[in-house]
Amino acid sequence: MAEPQRKGELLPEDVCTDDCLTSYTHIYSPDLLKDQVAFITGGGSGIGLRIAEIFMRHGCDTVIASRNLDKLKEAAKKLSAASGRRCLPVCVDVRQPESIAAAVDETLKELGRIDIVINNAAGNFLCPATSLSFNAFKTVMEIDTMGTFNTSKVVYEKWFKDHGGNIVNISATLGYKGQALQVHAGSAKAANDAMTKHLAVEWGPSGVRVNAVAPGPISGTEGFRRLGGPRGEAAGAFQSIPLQRAGNKTEMAHCTLFLASRVSSYVTGAILVADGGAWLTSGNDFSMMLGIASSKSAKL
Ligand code: NAP
Repeated sequence: MAEPQRKGELLPEDVCTDDCLTSYTHIYSPDLLKDQVAFITGGGSGIGLRIAEIFMRHGCDTVIASRNLDKLKEAAKKLSAASGRRCLPVCVDVRQPESIAAAVDETLKELGRIDIVINNAAGNFLCPATSLSFNAFKTVMEIDTMGTFNTSKVVYEKWFKDHGGNIVNISATLGYKGQALQVHAGSAKAANDAMTKHLAVEWGPSGVRVNAVAPGPISGTEGFRRLGGPRGEAAGAFQSIPLQRAGNKTEMAHCTLFLASRVSSYVTGAILVADGGAWLTSGNDFSMMLGIASSKSAKL
């Protein structure tokens, strides 16, 4: 289902499921990423899948990397059919550097290069700190933060160090105000934002740019469903967001495309907040959130 159109806005096409778009209108040149290769963690679902699709619609081949190979194979088939570009599904757990190294070797063997890395893989759920197990906190840090470092470092050492490249980390705004029930993901993404700047400084001289996109609530994603998005939307919670709506996955893919392409050639160490202004105005009501958490919380 497409997002409702608002006055003065022309939203890009999206579909709420993990399917490809039924139609797409290019904003940038369709050749923007021609013959480049992007390595996208968590590229088999949600925002990551749409990033893969939009990149492929701009001439890029992609590698989609996560744990569930069956899901990735199905996604790769859809992506190639929609775009006519190659998509290589690879089994990776970003917590395990050796699985990333094997996937990067396979990518270089099959596709010959890597131009872009999108660190999008993440785990999230709502849980108050008092109920969060030590293991749950550690697991989110390991996937979101260590996973981002592991993937960036493996690709840097195997390819970017000698050829340059672009890294875009998919972040979040949760830590900006200490969002209730999100100490795990908020802490992990805050660390990633610092990492974005550290790596931009150290790897800039090698021709590597490192940037981040921080989405707000994005419809048609597992994150949105798990974090109570549809319920909040029905209750009118998005009226408090300056742009008064959730974002869509194609909008996040466009922001990522901007940072991953030569359009942003003099930008590094930047965090592009793409949340309709949400974090500036939205509430952080712990007791209201606890109501949502009691039906949604999960412990790993
Ligand atoms: P999603 O569909 O659940 O995507 C997460 C992906 O990460 C999945 O494809 C999953 O695939 C992969 N993954 C999880 N653990 C992994 C691991 N250990 N190793 C490798 N891959 C792993 O979620 P999404 O909502 O689209 O979120 C995408 C990104 O946007 C995340 O970084 C999230 O924090 C960020 N974000 C989302 C929103 C939102 O509203 N949705 C808002 C702010 C930020 P497998 O299960 O196959 O491993």
